[in-house]
Amino acid sequence: MFCSHREVIVAGQKKKLSIAKGVVGGIVLGPLGAVAGGAGLGKTQTQFVCTKCGKTFNKLPHGSTIVG
Ligand SMILES: [Zn+2]
Repeated sequence: MFCSHREVIVAGQKKKLSIAKGVVGGIVLGPLGAVAGGAGLGKTQTQFVCTKCGKTFNKLPHGSTIVG
């Protein structure tokens, strides 16, 4: 279900909220929490879009880098 390019950008309307949650997660859970919060886990509707092929994902593909 994931492509192999591993470079994604964040899409969606709740980017700022996700970042805010990431900051909170970073405070509570440390760096791992920041990643999880920033990835939009939970109620946010953040999507990730592959920069190479345009495929979209509901979660950050494992090992992928957010480049934008
Ligand atoms: Zn791709």
